[in-house]
Amino acid sequence: MLEAIKQPALEAVNPFELRVDLGRHVPESDVRSALATGEMGFVHSFTTGSALDGPGIRVVVWLAGCQFRCLYCHNPDTWTMTNGIPITLDRAKEQLSKYRHGLQVMKGGLTISGGEPLMQHKFVVKVFEAAKKMGVHTALDTNGYLGSRLSDSDLEQVDLVLLDLKAFTPQLHHSLTGQDVSAVHEFARRLASRKRPIWVRFVLVPGWTDDPDEVDRIAGFAASLGNVERVDVLPFHQMGAYKWKQLGLEYKLDAVEPPSREVVERTCAQFRAVGLNAY
Ligand code: SF4
Repeated sequence: MLEAIKQPALEAVNPFELRVDLGRHVPESDVRSALATGEMGFVHSFTTGSALDGPGIRVVVWLAGCQFRCLYCHNPDTWTMTNGIPITLDRAKEQLSKYRHGLQVMKGGLTISGGEPLMQHKFVVKVFEAAKKMGVHTALDTNGYLGSRLSDSDLEQVDLVLLDLKAFTPQLHHSLTGQDVSAVHEFARRLASRKRPIWVRFVLVPGWTDDPDEVDRIAGFAASLGNVERVDVLPFHQMGAYKWKQLGLEYKLDAVEPPSREVVERTCAQFRAVGLNAY
């Protein structure tokens, strides 16, 4: 049985707020129980009024825990599950119900992001089930690596997948994230076969992901799926760099500048050239 825990504020001033150790007091057995049942989640923060994380105006919940180690990650404090605030499923539902009518009016919904939300897939599915019962649109922002954790019926609870495609070439993907790309591609193909819509997110990092041939490979893969409704090209920025330093992590992209407007435009044009809507 999960015990009631005194909770700090969930809402972050902005997504770049550093949060650490907020769930460290939770006994290991309760962490295991939370992961096995989905009755408790570890939440980095949430925000309201986002127009960037799916259609309409949305509530976004960032979950703690990630198995990738992207060199450009702007939220490395989300990597560790126990950095998150432990909240019960009931509290999550209660929070969401406060916004349900506003979200419906603004044609928005709930987006669960991270970290990597599928580290806590049972919690995600339960929150999405509750959202759908409230008539709230659901979007999952994921790196796709743990997509096989979701059953076909779990996928029915997800109206939209915001799929982060970090790189296409296996070696580059591994250098950039520390993980293999094949599971990501497998999940993307499964979503396509089940006709679940995808919005691709692609972070454009000078010197890493801006090579035109690499962009062509990602664009070709995304276009081959047939279910990609849009592509968001996200220019690299340095807003999370301070977190790496405060957490004592080695940050390798200190010298990398954001991409120029021309390179962003060229990249969008490459996605458009294969028939995708890119922004
Ligand atoms: S998948 Fe997202 S949260 Fe995880 S390391 Fe990469 S950028 Fe950071």
